[in-house]
Amino acid sequence: EEFEPTEEVRPKTPVKPMTATEVKVNVSIPEAAERAAATGADGVGLLRIEHMVLSLGQTPERYIQRNGRRAYVDEIVDGIREVAEEFYPRPVRARTLDAPTDEFKELEGGDEEPNEHNPMLGWRGIRRSLDKPDVFRAELAAFRRLYDMGYDNVELMLPLVNDAADADRAAELMREEDIDPNAITWGVMIETPASALRIEELVETGIDFASFGTNDLTQYTLAVDRNNENVADRFDELHPAVLQLIGSTIQTCREHDVATSICGQAGSKPEMVRFLVEEGVSSISANIDAVRDVQHEAKRVEQQLLLDSVR
Ligand code: PEP
Ligand code: MG
Repeated sequence: EEFEPTEEVRPKTPVKPMTATEVKVNVSIPEAAERAAATGADGVGLLRIEHMVLSLGQTPERYIQRNGRRAYVDEIVDGIREVAEEFYPRPVRARTLDAPTDEFKELEGGDEEPNEHNPMLGWRGIRRSLDKPDVFRAELAAFRRLYDMGYDNVELMLPLVNDAADADRAAELMREEDIDPNAITWGVMIETPASALRIEELVETGIDFASFGTNDLTQYTLAVDRNNENVADRFDELHPAVLQLIGSTIQTCREHDVATSICGQAGSKPEMVRFLVEEGVSSISANIDAVRDVQHEAKRVEQQLLLDSVR
């Protein structure tokens, strides 16, 4: 007769293999936090705030104008808090706003958005944040409030950074919002070839981590629109050019004690997991449904590396 564990002895989270590589999970909506936490992931590698913002039905500028900055800060605090609470003390890496202008167009206030031929190459992520610091500063104020509330597991991640100037300016704005970059865990996404090529200067800005956004890194490295079905077969996250940028970035980061991670879709692919673990990545963030497979694949590769090293 098969053994059926009772409620008491059944582990709350699935038994997972112990890996040196941390395996985390991506969360796009706070409502998914419970399911994400139940995977046994070591934390959240990417918490997108786009959904929290776009669901307001107004552009952030319009929302702040109508409802006040405080209301915008509250929305971000509530969204991040739901996930940080569920995962505490496991780290939750929340990313500041990164939505292209075309996604704001349908919202109230969207008529004031610029018309861009290439929104993906346009005014998004850290670019918009630095140009329109009012919205960015309100997001930083949300992080500040979360730290004050005791959520020291919240980490801050900046999207679409190109170079040290972007990171330095962001750090300056953090200080203006009473956040000491040296006292928190913060980092940048590596999702443009520029950021991978300029990693030597980026590691000097005080970042604690660099996280590969392979959706964009692939798009920009191969000049293949990630949303264009005509070139979908050319969208290859494992292309040698992409892997070369990732590999060299990991090496530089390791030399400077900066953690590395992946939070793009490719982190859920076994081939990418193999490559990253062999390169010595610190953590891998996968989709909820892929966490378990990634844990096991990471374990397999780690064991193989260990066997190879003693041979
Ligand atoms: C990425 O580019 O890989 C990423 C994780 O960011 P997003 O998909 O939100 O652009
Ligand atoms: Mg991206």
